[in-house]
Amino acid sequence: MDWFVVARRAVSVFYLVLIVWGTTVGSFSFADVITFEEGADDSAKTERTIDAEILVEAADGGVLARCDAGRLWTIQPDQIITRAKQPAGPPIDQETMARRMLEELPAGFQVYRTANYLILHQGNEAYARSCGILFEQLHRGFFTYWKNQHVDLETPRYPLVALVLANHDEFLKFAGQEIGDTAKSVIGYYHLESNRMTTFRVPNLERNIATIIHEATHQLAYNCGLQTRFADNPMWVSEGMAMFFESPDFSNPRGWRGIGRVNVVNLGRFRRYLPSRPEDSLATLLSDDSRFRSAATAEDAYGESWALTYFLLKTQRKEFVAYLQKLSESKPLDERTPRERIEDFESSMGMGLEEIDRKFLTYMRRVR
Ligand SMILES: [Zn+2]
Repeated sequence: MDWFVVARRAVSVFYLVLIVWGTTVGSFSFADVITFEEGADDSAKTERTIDAEILVEAADGGVLARCDAGRLWTIQPDQIITRAKQPAGPPIDQETMARRMLEELPAGFQVYRTANYLILHQGNEAYARSCGILFEQLHRGFFTYWKNQHVDLETPRYPLVALVLANHDEFLKFAGQEIGDTAKSVIGYYHLESNRMTTFRVPNLERNIATIIHEATHQLAYNCGLQTRFADNPMWVSEGMAMFFESPDFSNPRGWRGIGRVNVVNLGRFRRYLPSRPEDSLATLLSDDSRFRSAATAEDAYGESWALTYFLLKTQRKEFVAYLQKLSESKPLDERTPRERIEDFESSMGMGLEEIDRKFLTYMRRVR
């Protein structure tokens, strides 16, 4: 992903170009038909043609493009074979998505559809159906929750796709190509580039509901306008939100109910963190994502992200929603400095970090 790094550096240059060409690029009345060479090494190269919106164009001609199925492609200039303009069509529907997925996937996949999801499975239809019920429950709950908070969400523009593989081996084969070694330590994930969720048939779905809901929440957040893919999304926001929605309620026979309940696992993590929590904990959580990337600090970072999200949604909802709105308006590949991240947060909240921290700790000590 060399180009990705280059593009991030070239972003300020690119915005100058955007201002000059604003009407053409911004209106999206035209799409680009791009034929390019896919695959990193010579042996795996294949030719692919996409109808795409160009989201970012680097000075050297490399592009970040979003195809009509919602997938993001970073294409380097030397991968591009041809590129032409054509009138933009609408995003594809569920049926077209199903056909394309079946063409693309190895043999043996089947389609299971729900009102809002397209589930591709390997013959394990009963399990796919159970996942579909969970996805639809979340979908309903998620949209109802935000509606009750007076937040207007967009209807997802692209069909929501989940891959449910037959077993762990199949999952490792498939997920390994997409996320590398991380596949070995997860039972499911949402992939920002492909916009798809991937999981596999686990022996005990009930025990893994939180994970499945967590990943499905990421997908929904990036498809309803709450978050923007490839923008500078602080990890505590993405993860905090997914954890806010995941809390399963096992007393309910359908396995999952109740958005915004206390997340017992993460409350525990936060409590264990408190005795050693440094004074600048919020600042480090907000300013960059490094605490999530080290095994030694990730657990604390997740616990604190859930707690902060919970606190903000329960006590500073309007301000937090305004903050989310501001984040969602940032552009793909745009990056903010640690200082800007903190300033954005403080100005949305109308309070300095110290004051927020005091209120946050006072509130969380009472949460049971
Ligand atoms: Zn997550």
